[in-house]
Amino acid sequence: MRTSPPHAKLPFLYKQNPIRMNSPSPERIPGDRFLHSPGPTHIPAEVLNAMHRQPMDHGDPRLEQMIAVCETGLRRLLQTDRADVFMFISNGHGAWETTIENLLAPGQAVLIPGSGHFSEQWAMQAEATGRRVVRTPCRAGYPIDANAVEAALRADKKREIVAVFAVHTDTASSATCDLQAMRAAIDAAGHSALFVADIVASLAAAPFAMDALGVNVAVGASQKGLMCPPGFGFVAVDAHAGEIAANNGAPRYYWDWRRRKAEYSYRKFCGTAPQNLLYGLEAALALIEREGIAAVHARHALLARAVQAAVECWSKEGALSLHCRVPEARSVSVTTIDVDSGIDVEALRGVARERFQVAFAGGLGAQTGRAFRIGHLGDVNAAMILGCLAGIEAAMLVQGIPFGRDGVQKAVDCLAAG
Ligand SMILES: *Cc1c(COP(=O)(O)O)cnc(C)c1O
Repeated sequence: MRTSPPHAKLPFLYKQNPIRMNSPSPERIPGDRFLHSPGPTHIPAEVLNAMHRQPMDHGDPRLEQMIAVCETGLRRLLQTDRADVFMFISNGHGAWETTIENLLAPGQAVLIPGSGHFSEQWAMQAEATGRRVVRTPCRAGYPIDANAVEAALRADKKREIVAVFAVHTDTASSATCDLQAMRAAIDAAGHSALFVADIVASLAAAPFAMDALGVNVAVGASQKGLMCPPGFGFVAVDAHAGEIAANNGAPRYYWDWRRRKAEYSYRKFCGTAPQNLLYGLEAALALIEREGIAAVHARHALLARAVQAAVECWSKEGALSLHCRVPEARSVSVTTIDVDSGIDVEALRGVARERFQVAFAGGLGAQTGRAFRIGHLGDVNAAMILGCLAGIEAAMLVQGIPFGRDGVQKAVDCLAAG
């Protein structure tokens, strides 16, 4: 039997514009599917609603005003009074690339301390664009070793290293490094290298203060702690880094920070501004300010403790374990869980997603197929975390994975204790 399309009985106008039907998508499930990947993250209704409006013409003063509000809000969140904020229609990789292109000429060197998959990806990108990369070794399950950073800078007798690119929270290993120790390591080596921090996965989750930490460039993106859809990356650049970029003769255009120092939005974005994303950012920043940044950090810390308590309990049967070996370095944004070689991570994710409506991430890099990751950053609360953990327990039962059965209870205890 031939069935008519769902809009067949609707008025003519709606047939012409199926997008306006508001009919359920074939993917519709009752209730919400919990999104616990460490980016993209759950988007609050306020952000989605803020984006649901018509764009303005170039030159509408309200557009410039809204962009200024976003820039000021980002500066406040980064805790900087002095940095310039440049935004790009891109993802985090774009924000990485603009940092490479502006700070280093081809052939120049950057020190990228090993944090895991993300430091290695950034390093490969720098090499692919013709820069030289000095690496410090990455030890699986451990954050960046500040002593190794100091040693690498001391060994740079000819002072060829232009910058240190440090990933604050490596989203693959779920370890957060100590940026203050890294700043101290650069200073102790007496090296003039710029200090660049990738805070894509830690911003609006873990404490970060750009000026106080002596960070010259901070690199971020929209779809993690910022609770926005994927689609824009940004950098905050202090005067010192801005000067180095201005004197860097490397050819570049779209990514060039000099071109972004402009009043008019069309110049500032090197073309049309992503207005609807910016409406979303404006709303997200307002939510963070309303909650209070200290409260946002405390909420992330508590939810992370609950997840870790559950995973520690799950680990008792020997099939799973927390990837990050250093308790104080465990990220408040994401938790990586190593699994036994017999466990099919993709099958587990599939069951959790399709039967229990809990979506989480797999392992990356060396952990591909050997770990899964729970994102607990952005617009998340206790109930969502408990639902996520319980859904994963249900999926582990279906898959016959042995785990300590009191994981959710441990998380409840942790949340109740506050
Ligand atoms: C997600 C992420 C990136 C890359 O962001 P994309 O938007 O996926 O390109 C870079 N660094 C860190 C730490 C991340 O978590």
